[in-house]
Amino acid sequence: MRFVLDHDYHLHTNLSSCCHEEEQTTERLLRYAEKNGLRDICLTNHFWDDAVCQPTKWYAPQNFAHIASARPLPQSDKVRFHFGCEGDMNERFIIGIGQEVRKEMELLVVPFTHMHMKEFVPTETPVEERANLYVQRMDVFMGSDLPDGKTGIAHMTTPLIARAQWTDHIRLLEMIPDDVFRYEFSRAAQRNFGIELNMDLAKYAPEELQSVLRPYFIAKECGCKFYLGSDAHSAAALEGAMKRFEDMVSALDLTEEDKFCPFES
Ligand SMILES: [Zn+2]
Ligand SMILES: [Zn+2]
Repeated sequence: MRFVLDHDYHLHTNLSSCCHEEEQTTERLLRYAEKNGLRDICLTNHFWDDAVCQPTKWYAPQNFAHIASARPLPQSDKVRFHFGCEGDMNERFIIGIGQEVRKEMELLVVPFTHMHMKEFVPTETPVEERANLYVQRMDVFMGSDLPDGKTGIAHMTTPLIARAQWTDHIRLLEMIPDDVFRYEFSRAAQRNFGIELNMDLAKYAPEELQSVLRPYFIAKECGCKFYLGSDAHSAAALEGAMKRFEDMVSALDLTEEDKFCPFES
């Protein structure tokens, strides 16, 4: 059976500092889920746990008390609304989600790819060096103490990894050999970390698609499971989400067998 578009596990509200729409509330997210027939959604506002270590200036206000103020989440007969966060990995490869707060989260969505944050990776870092860093960050991630089956790998191929020019992130991904991806995704599969489907494939030229999809094909070969995550911060992003999901699922030819199910046990 084809992979059913019945969830979105990466969603922000106006509690995230980079969300600029006051109307981006949990009620809006619930309406989006109902309208599109989604069964499960997860709130994942940006978060850094000050119990782990000193946050950057941008993360400082986005602590646990702040993101927890979204609770209780609105529910409906048709939609289960879960509470989680989008964590992060800093320049020392420390993941900012401590043990105490993990008990309160149903899913941890964590990128190792926020390489646009200048405190984590200096802006002028060349693409070649960024490719090495990408691999190091991915390697630490796969060996981290993040919980098996309850962790999602956010936007693995985002342009944020190298964005001086549009093609930089594509070049960066091309620099990483199949074997490296294969090794890391085998670890991800073993730990049942979900791989997020988040890209807007319409933005890529046909000859670029192969480069950005390659990691996902390798992940699939390695037995990784996938989930949909729009990373929407706005009404416009919610509006376009289903089309983007549809394109990713088609491109990778995913079935229900390939689905990451963090809320089933
Ligand atoms: Zn992100
Ligand atoms: Zn996000």
